[in-house]
Amino acid sequence: MPPPPPSPADQRTLPSRLQDYDRGYAAFDWAQARREVTDLGGGRLNIAYEALDRHLDGPGADRTAIRFLPRDGGDPLAITYRALNARANQFANLLAERGLQPGDRVYCLAHRIPDLYAAALGTLKHGCVFTPLFSAFGPEPIRSRVEIGEPAAVVTTARLYRRKMADWIAETPCLRHVLLIGDVDEAPEGTVDAARAMDALSAEYTTRPMDPEAMALLHFTSGTTGRPKGAVHAHEAVVLHRVTAEQALDLQPGDVYWSTADPGWVAGMSYGIIGPFAAGVTLVVDEAEFDAERWYRILDEQRVNVWYTAPTAIRMLMKCGPELPARYDLSALRFIASVGEPLNPEAVHWSRATLGLPFHDNWWQTETGGIMIANFRCLPIKPGSMGRPVPGIEAAVVRRDDAGGIERIDAADETGELALRKGWPAMFRGYLHEEARYRKAFSGDWYLTGDLVRRDVDGYYWFIGRGDDVIKTSGHLIGPFEVESALMEHPAVAEVGVIGVPDEVTGERIKAFVALKPGHAPDDELRRALMALARKRLGAAVAPREIAFADQLPRTRSGKIMRRLLRARELGLPEGDTSTLEGGDDRLRPCASPTAGGG
Ligand code: AMP
Repeated sequence: MPPPPPSPADQRTLPSRLQDYDRGYAAFDWAQARREVTDLGGGRLNIAYEALDRHLDGPGADRTAIRFLPRDGGDPLAITYRALNARANQFANLLAERGLQPGDRVYCLAHRIPDLYAAALGTLKHGCVFTPLFSAFGPEPIRSRVEIGEPAAVVTTARLYRRKMADWIAETPCLRHVLLIGDVDEAPEGTVDAARAMDALSAEYTTRPMDPEAMALLHFTSGTTGRPKGAVHAHEAVVLHRVTAEQALDLQPGDVYWSTADPGWVAGMSYGIIGPFAAGVTLVVDEAEFDAERWYRILDEQRVNVWYTAPTAIRMLMKCGPELPARYDLSALRFIASVGEPLNPEAVHWSRATLGLPFHDNWWQTETGGIMIANFRCLPIKPGSMGRPVPGIEAAVVRRDDAGGIERIDAADETGELALRKGWPAMFRGYLHEEARYRKAFSGDWYLTGDLVRRDVDGYYWFIGRGDDVIKTSGHLIGPFEVESALMEHPAVAEVGVIGVPDEVTGERIKAFVALKPGHAPDDELRRALMALARKRLGAAVAPREIAFADQLPRTRSGKIMRRLLRARELGLPEGDTSTLEGGDDRLRPCASPTAGGG
């Protein structure tokens, strides 16, 4: 039997996993961390082996891996490590039976249901590459990611398939298998009821030993321009997932851990599947979307010890006031952390006063694969700061020079770009099919993150802003180009510029500036039509909340829309250098007709 978990009363006095930051940082050694991951022969390993197989010989086999809470409030379902491993094996056998080879890509478009976890880990067991997609995406972002990554198979639900994929799938012949998980009344033509097919397959499978550099995960992210980028991650990434799950999230044996990350993004993979299972904890999986009361009830009833969530959700909880949490027993909580967007200092003060514990902000991005900068349980928090580099990660503040090099800024409190010395195991190994773009992300030994930060005298990092035009809304990274392209499809539209404007709850909300072709009136009817087009193509989470009409948009002489200027003007900020602006600087003249947006 697994050791009994510490009683709630002991939680807050339980020593933290990393007890002395400075000593832990100085002593850290990747070679040692690497040795703690199972060698499957000749230095080969497999993420899924670390997450599942490794637990099967010990007391962890019968520990609950997933406690699934159905959306409709039905009874929780407990799935042990042994049972999850068996299901993942069945999925690996399904891939093998269908002829998928190691290296083939398997996309997954699903919300939180138990077979998603089996599919992710079964894919990795078979040596295939797993790519999660955001289930709130509309058909367009899904299709473009399929065209870039050319998956051999997609795992999805019957409902999502019908709504978002069925119309165009015939035009993407690479996609040979549509595997349906969840409830399937009747599998649409060309699809397989995977859940039923798995039931009939063996629950035995020998997890493939993989070269540490073999591609394991492909995570899509967005840049300022061009199509989404597919960040490639290797099996070796698990070394960092495991260490940071323990040191930065303080996961300890017997813990009940709840990550609210959406499984369609990198956080849902690194710390919603790999990290927690590698650490051997019980993962709470809530099928439902945000609901303040439900969330407090989960923290209470599931006796959650470690909770990893995001600033937008925290701000939504804060808006609901302190009475609600006061009705619940949150004493099982030991550590609470947040990621994805800046965490306002008020959120830290609020959580301390209301939940009895402060939120620990941490920072990372798709390309880094896992947590890089964190507030640790063993260190004092400076509210508003993202914390200090995790052991094994060397961070710096740099300035790019004109010759393509960088200069380190060693003085405290100077703003510059956050750079990370390359070589950590979860670092991305490329942007799929985009070698030049990948190379541009580095200068010498340093990966340039694109985020502006400052470091204070105590070595804490403070987020200043993004160095590019990418938008973070509700924690989701949205490329303006993707939104602009969808609006450009409307026959009345001449040009579009999309920016993020500050939003009290979601961090930023998406706003589009649209210039029309001659002969089209900028009226509410057209605005509604554009909104509807964007929602249909992109999905509500990615569509703009506001559309404003303008006569013309500011462009550089080379023809690029100057989103930076749109944003400065929208927010009444200094316009900065406009020397590259094409023509005069009165380009964003509002139309005489209504301009203000309305979502
Ligand atoms: P993604 O690649 O979607 O995970 O988004 C990564 C980006 O989110 C980073 O480059 C930052 O701009 C932002 N981000 C992530 N964590 C934080 C944080 N703790 N504070 C401020 N911004 C963050």
